[in-house]
Amino acid sequence: MKDVWSAVQDPLREALGDQNYQVWIEPIQFTGIGGDTVHLRVPNRYFGDWVRENFGTTITGELCRHLEAQVRVEFHVDGKAPAPASSPADPVGPGTAKKQTSHDSEPPPSKASPGIALDKTFGNFVVGTCNQFAHAAAQAAAESPGESQYNPLFIYGGTGLGKTHLMHAIGNAMKQRDEQLHVLYVTAEQFTNEMIDALRYRNMPDFRDKYRKRPDVLLIDDVQFFSGKDRTQEELFHTFEDLHKRGKQIVFTADVLPREIKLFAPRLRTRCESGMLADTQPPDVETMLAILRQKSEDMGLTVPADLGQWLANRVRGSIRELEGVLNRLKAISRMHGTPPTIEFAQKHLRGILPEAPSAPTVDAIIQTVASFYGLKIAEIKGTRRLKQIVRPRHVAMFLTRKLTDLSFPEIGRAFGGRDHATVQHACKKIRGLLIKDADLRNAIETVQRMMLR
Ligand code: ADP
Ligand code: MG
Repeated sequence: MKDVWSAVQDPLREALGDQNYQVWIEPIQFTGIGGDTVHLRVPNRYFGDWVRENFGTTITGELCRHLEAQVRVEFHVDGKAPAPASSPADPVGPGTAKKQTSHDSEPPPSKASPGIALDKTFGNFVVGTCNQFAHAAAQAAAESPGESQYNPLFIYGGTGLGKTHLMHAIGNAMKQRDEQLHVLYVTAEQFTNEMIDALRYRNMPDFRDKYRKRPDVLLIDDVQFFSGKDRTQEELFHTFEDLHKRGKQIVFTADVLPREIKLFAPRLRTRCESGMLADTQPPDVETMLAILRQKSEDMGLTVPADLGQWLANRVRGSIRELEGVLNRLKAISRMHGTPPTIEFAQKHLRGILPEAPSAPTVDAIIQTVASFYGLKIAEIKGTRRLKQIVRPRHVAMFLTRKLTDLSFPEIGRAFGGRDHATVQHACKKIRGLLIKDADLRNAIETVQRMMLR
C-alpha cells in the first residue's frame, strides 16, 4: 500500500513545483489507509496546517486520481493522535477536483504563522562576509519593521545562499517579540496562483483582505517569478502601495537585482529600489566551514576537522548543496556503520562533488573580466594605461586576490610580470572604490556570477 504515496510523488512535484515539493511534500510520510482515509505523518502541527491549507486539495486530488476512488487525507504528528484538524481536507473525487479558494478553509485562528519555518532563525544563521550585510539588514527590518530605510527590504543572490532562511528568520524574530503581529510568507508563485484562483472564483475581496489588510509583514520569496505576469504585477503594486503607506514591512527576495528582472514593471522596480538592497554571495571557505560545523552538529554527524576542510574547499557554490552532501554522508556512513573520513567521502561522494576546489583560476578570472568589459585578454595583461583598460585590469587583480590563494608577487607574474606593489596598489584602490561606487560593485558581482556558471 506504500505505493499509493510513492505513486503521487511525481504528479505532486509537477503540480507544486520543485521548491514546494522539497519543502512541504518530501518530509511527509505515508502511514496507512483506513477506510476512505489516507493517513500522512507530518513533522509538526504548523507544518500540517500549512500543507492542509495550501496543498490539501492538490494532494487529495492526486490521491483520488490514483486510487480512482474518493478519499480524504488526515495529517498526524509523530504517529500520535490525528492533529486536531481545523478543517479536514474535503473529500474530493477525481472529477470534481476543484482548486482551493480562501473561503473553503479559513486558516486556523492560531497565532502561529503557518508559512514560517520555525527552524530558520537568526540564531542558526551563520554570518560571514558573504552575507553579513543581508543579515544585518534583515535584523534591522525585524527589529523596527516599516522603517523607511529598510522598507522594502530586497534580498538578492544566487540559489541556496540563505535568502529564504533570512525571510523566515525575520518572521520568527517578529513573532517572538510580538505574537500578535500578522506575518505572512508566500512564494511569488503561490501569490500568483492564489490571485488567478481568486479571479476565477470571483474572490478578490478575500485575496485583498489577506494580502493588503491583514499583514503587518509581507514576505514574498523569489519575485523574479513575476517576470512578464502583468496582471499579478499590477496587483502586487497596489498591495505594495497599500501596505507601505500604512508603514507595514515588506520583504522581497529574488535571484537578481530588481532592474535585472526581465519584464518587471518600472514602477515596481523603483519601489523595490527605494528601500534597502542587500545581496547574499557564495560563502568563502571559512564561512563554509563554520556552516558545515553547525549543520553537522545539528544533524548529529561527526565530521573530523580534515574532512570538514576538504568538503568546505569543494562545495563552494551553495549552502543547500552542502546540506545535500552532509545528508548523503550521514546516510552512507550509517549504512556502513563507520564514521566518515576523507577517504570515505572520496569513495562515496564521487560524481557528486567537484573533483577539485571550485575556486577559479587566474586565467578564468582574466578571461571573464575581459569578456565582461569587452576587452582582449592581452589588453588586461598588457601595459597600456588607457583608463578603460586600467580599471578592468585592477578589477581582475582584485578578484584574483579575493578568489584564489595566490600571493601578490604570484599575481603580478600572472598579469604579465608586474611587481607585487602594483598588484597591492590595484587591490587597495578597488577596495576603496567599492565603498562608494555602486556600479563597480555591481560589475564585480556580475563577473563573479559569470564565473559560477
Ligand atoms: P536561497 O533562498 O537563497 O536559495 P535558502 O535560504 O533556502 O537559500 O538556503 C538553503 C539552505 O541553506 C537552507 O536550508 C538554509 O537554512 C541553509 N543556509 C543558507 N545560508 C545559511 C547560513 N548562513 N547559515 C546556516 N544555514 C544557511
Ligand atoms: Mg529561496
